This record gives sequence, structure tokens and C-alpha cells, in this order.
Amino acid sequence: MTGKAPIIVIGAGQSGQQICDSLRKGGYEGHLMLLGDEASLPYQRPPLSKKFLTGTLEAERLLLRPASYYEQQKIDVHLNARVDSIDRAACRLRLRSGEALAYSGLALATGTRIRPLTVPGAADANIHYVRSLADGERLAAALKNARRVAVIGGGFIGLEVAAIAREQGREVVLIEAFERLMARAVAPQVSAFYAELHRGHGVEVLLGTGVDAIRTVAGEHTVVTSTGAEYTVDLIVAGIGVVPNSELAEAAGLACRNGIVVDDCARTSDPLIVAAGDCTWHMNGFLQREIRLESVQNAVDQAKSAAASLLGQSSVYCQVPWFWSDQYDIKLQIAGIGMPHDQAVLRGDVSSGAFSVCYFRDGVLVGVDSLNKPAEHMAARKLLAQGTPLSAAQAGDTSVDLMQLARGA
Ligand SMILES: Cc1cc2nc3c(=O)[nH]c(=O)nc-3n(C[C@H](O)[C@H](O)[C@H](O)COP(=O)(O)OP(=O)(O)OC[C@H]3O[C@@H](n4cnc5c(N)ncnc54)[C@H](O)[C@@H]3O)c2cc1C
Repeated sequence: MTGKAPIIVIGAGQSGQQICDSLRKGGYEGHLMLLGDEASLPYQRPPLSKKFLTGTLEAERLLLRPASYYEQQKIDVHLNARVDSIDRAACRLRLRSGEALAYSGLALATGTRIRPLTVPGAADANIHYVRSLADGERLAAALKNARRVAVIGGGFIGLEVAAIAREQGREVVLIEAFERLMARAVAPQVSAFYAELHRGHGVEVLLGTGVDAIRTVAGEHTVVTSTGAEYTVDLIVAGIGVVPNSELAEAAGLACRNGIVVDDCARTSDPLIVAAGDCTWHMNGFLQREIRLESVQNAVDQAKSAAASLLGQSSVYCQVPWFWSDQYDIKLQIAGIGMPHDQAVLRGDVSSGAFSVCYFRDGVLVGVDSLNKPAEHMAARKLLAQGTPLSAAQAGDTSVDLMQLARGA
């Protein structure tokens, strides 16, 4: 894909930055534009629900690359630049500012946006969500003055925020609609461990409990739960999921289904357009099925395939998914996708706070959650990548060294 018009990357996030980087590393020397609708250069989002909320991490430290990198790499970055439409027939896109830009190749790395809480009263409750740097800054400031905090949603983000709020001495009630925490991602024994962890730190954890309404009077919010209980707090944070930013692609006539549909080389249904990161519904070469993933690993690795496709090469995206979450002094690291599974094998002692759970489907290892077991996480990634056979008995036997097994020793 050469020609006078630039390659344009829409979305200056984790994936967009990586696409630009991989294009340059892959030998693309032409005009390269990165368009993002936020005010900041691409930054890491994971710390926004973790250390950033403590106020001890400066925003500058979140940047994926300093400004000088974009100058050196001749990446023409436009911030506060929202793309409103794509005219595929003319190979042009239009910015909200009215400016029209021609492209020779296009990458969509538009990510996701938060799913808002819509119960009665939610609009007046000044609810905090955490997606952007601006959200993180606003929440960090609000937490400083809060006394009682309600966290709605017991997924990764809600739990991370609850942990930080507790560490700051706030009273915290956590409200989760499912019967267990992180239900979409981990096995019941891991959920149970985290419920106890949070309760042990003084969080009131409500499971199987929805939010029916919120009443706001004089800056105080009363959260009315589905059980009829009421909690009056001065700060509400919701982490109830995200939706993919695929409307731009959809309006341009690209196939979309819970995200922008791409193949295992990150190619959309238009040969000039690729997509990568949270916004894609993709054929995952490793999992051998279609999925949408929300993780740094996916954003980075799929971006590499997307860049290769723009360069006319074919690089199948086939990496073991991995993810992490930090809550209090526990680091959860997830390798593979353990859900759904038909067997979950505990490895180690739950009461020690350092253990793994190995997930099997039809007798095959599909995922491993490791809590404060970084070596087992690395071994699990290797085992999964290689497809090294592991039996349930071996998984549960801590005398079996998983790294040695992965190395074929
Ligand atoms: C609080 C938080 C904590 C997280 N913690 C973890 C973690 O611990 N581990 C982990 O692996 N992952 C974590 N994630 C997920 C991870 O950050 C995302 O998977 C990753 O950022 C996805 O990268 P992306 O480039 O696909 O999307 P994003 O990083 O969201 O970037 C997309 C960008 O595109 C912009 N954009 C959208 N539409 C347009 C348009 N029309 N024009 C111009 N710009 C546009 C968006 O504003 C955004 O800046 C976390 C995410 C959040 C929010």
C-alpha cells in the first residue's frame, strides 16, 4: 500500500500506537497519521483503576512513548481530532472539524467506551466511570474527599477501585448483580477468594444484588438496591462493562458484530482497512474461534498483525491471551481463556494467598489463573503456547514443576 496519501490510524490508544510503531519497524517510510479524539498522546489505561488513583503516579508516567518518539518516527499525531465518517469509495475520511483527509490505508483502533448506568436517578448522581485519563484524574481527586463510596460492579475495574478506596480508609460497599465476583472471567473458587479478600479488608460485598435507583439530595447519594436496602454515600463509581466503538466502521458499511469484524490477520471486509484492539470481533488464531478481548496483550499483538496486513504481508494473530489485575497485595495473572471449562483444578493452598487454578476443557488445559504466582503464570503461558499436554493430576500436584514441564525437562 503505497501512494501519496498517508496511512491513517484512527484511535491514539494502546493499539493505535502499536500499529504506528510496527508500521515503521516494518519498513513503511511514507506519511503516517495518528488521529485521536483525546487530549493526550497514547497512554496506558491499566494504572487508571490502580496506582494512579492514589495520586502518586503522574500522568506523564502513563505515556506509552514520549512526544520526542513521535517526532523521531515522523508520526504525524493529531490530538482532539475525532473522525466522524469514512467514505470508502473515495478513500477519504472526515474529521469533526470538517477537515477531509485522503488515505492509502486505514487502521481502526477505536477501542471501547463505558456502558453507563441507566437506573432512575443515575443521571443526577455524578457517577464516576474509569476509561480515560480525564476519568482517572477526576476520580483520584474525588476519592481524596470521599468518606463513603459505593462501587457498582464486581468485575476487575470495580474491584480494583474498591481496593484502592479501602486502602485510603474510605468506607466501601461493593454491589454486584451476579452471585459471585468476576463471574465472566474466573472460576467460583477464585471469586470466593476475592470476596473474602475484600471482606477481610472491610469492604461490604453484596452479591446477587442489583441497583434499582439512586436518589441524590444535597450532594449525598442514596443507592437503593434490588433487595430494598439503602446505602447513603458521597461517591459512586460504576464499572459495569464497555461497548465497542464500532459505529464509525458500521456507518462505512464494514461488517460489525459486537465489534468490527476482522480475520486472523486483522483485516476488515475492505482490503484497504484493518482494525485492532478492544474494538474488534476477531478470529483468534490461538483460540480458533471468534471473540472480542479487552486487554493490553490483545491490543498490542493484534496491532502487529494489522500493521503487517497494511504492508501487504500476512501475519496471523495467534498469541496466548493474558491479563492481570492488582487488588491489595494480590496480583492475579490470567493465561489463556478459562471460560467455559468443565474442570477447574486447584494448585496450591488458597489460605496462603498464593495459588493457581488450572482450567480444562475436554481434558485439555485452556487457561490458568495465578495469584501471587508469577512463575506459574509464565509457565502456563508457555505450556498453552506450545500445547504441552498437562493432566489434571499434574496440575494439582505442586511437586510437578510447570516451567520444567514447559521446557520439556
Ligand atoms: C481502568 C482500566 C483498567 C484496565 N486494566 C487492565 C489490566 O489490568 N490489564 C489489561 O490487560 N488490560 C486492562 N485494561 C484494558 C486495556 O487498557 C485495553 O484493552 C486497551 O487500552 C485497549 O487498547 P485499544 O487501543 O484497543 O483501545 P483504547 O486504549 O481505548 O484506545 C482507543 C482510542 O480511540 C479513540 N477513538 C475512538 N473513536 C474515535 C474516533 N472516531 N476518532 C478519533 N479517536 C477515536 C478513543 O478515545 C481512545 O483514545 C484496562 C482498561 C481500563 C479502562
